[in-house]
Amino acid sequence: MKLAPWILVAIPLLALGHSPTPDRRLPAPVTKARTEIRIPDPPGFLTLKCDLHTHTVFSDGLVWPSVRSEEAWREGLDAIAITDHIEYQPHKDDLPTKHDRSTDIARGAGDPLGIIVIRGSEITRQMPPGHLNAIFLTNCAALSVSNWTDAIAAAHAQGAFIFWNHPGWEAQATNGIAVWYPEHTQIYESGMMHGIEVVNGRSYYPEAHRWAIEKKLAIISNSDIHAPMGMDYHLHDGDLRPVTLVFAKERTAESLKEALRERRSAAFAAGFVVGDEQFLRPIFERSVRIKNPSATIKGKGRALIQIANDSSIDFHLERSGSLPEVTIPKELVLPAGKTVILEVKGTGAAPAGEKPLALPYEVNNLLIGPDRPLPATLDLTARF
Ligand SMILES: [Zn+2]
Ligand SMILES: [Zn+2]
Repeated sequence: MKLAPWILVAIPLLALGHSPTPDRRLPAPVTKARTEIRIPDPPGFLTLKCDLHTHTVFSDGLVWPSVRSEEAWREGLDAIAITDHIEYQPHKDDLPTKHDRSTDIARGAGDPLGIIVIRGSEITRQMPPGHLNAIFLTNCAALSVSNWTDAIAAAHAQGAFIFWNHPGWEAQATNGIAVWYPEHTQIYESGMMHGIEVVNGRSYYPEAHRWAIEKKLAIISNSDIHAPMGMDYHLHDGDLRPVTLVFAKERTAESLKEALRERRSAAFAAGFVVGDEQFLRPIFERSVRIKNPSATIKGKGRALIQIANDSSIDFHLERSGSLPEVTIPKELVLPAGKTVILEVKGTGAAPAGEKPLALPYEVNNLLIGPDRPLPATLDLTARF
């Protein structure tokens, strides 16, 4: 019989003449632990993991604001925005409307944990223009006005970063297809739309991804969480909320805002990263390490190449071309935090000598455009 560890502790205590009552305490659980999201920094920047769209009981959410800060700390985030609805407070009979209070409370819990808590609001209107988040506000209550153009102007006057939320939300978009209305042109052309949610919760909107590229809007990816995070995401099974990766010069709110305004961001959601090649390429190249890049391949022999992935992202590679000297697998998965073997087989066609080989692949879960995977090579030096 295997004794539980607490029994092993209890036996010597009894032998020393302590209380004969058995000690029924169980081993202390790990109550608070943070799981880091490991994504490399592009050159010159820090990769900050941010959820810029969250709700609390101060609008239609189901949690107290301080819980949002601790969830973010546990899940490896750097920053969150509290963005309760301006126009919708279904709990107001129990909790009077206080537009700025949720951020104050979340900051009280976030500051000691080092979580950046950004003051925001969700401007909540019918389509068009639908819902927009304004973040880095100084006074949320100023957005409580009847006309949506005045609400957006009030946010803009505070220097807010403003983005269009869930453009393909089924309640406001037929069959989940996002439509760009003249009202969006009006907001965009007046310089008051700076980003767009390409991901909201479990949804990815390819139209929004295309507009983000064409119109130079920041790519945004958020949970829009209302429930406790663990009710919507299987956190203990590695399920992660969507986050916006912001490539900032420093880990501060000011630097984060500057990076968003310069559209240095990407979406990380459901194992996919969506963003510009200038950010996705260094993320891939700095995650993946070929441990033995010099291989000897004699005739039709094979070399076993060990490839490590130091990031939290599983990379799904698909062969995108061929080489006369070697054959390589059609598909290759590089799981997060693991080292895998890539088998490279000689075709017998290579003349004797040393030759650099760029194995051609595409990374199917790194999207630089809708349906456009990141092209990448695995670089070896082969001795034939
Ligand atoms: Zn919304
Ligand atoms: Zn929302």
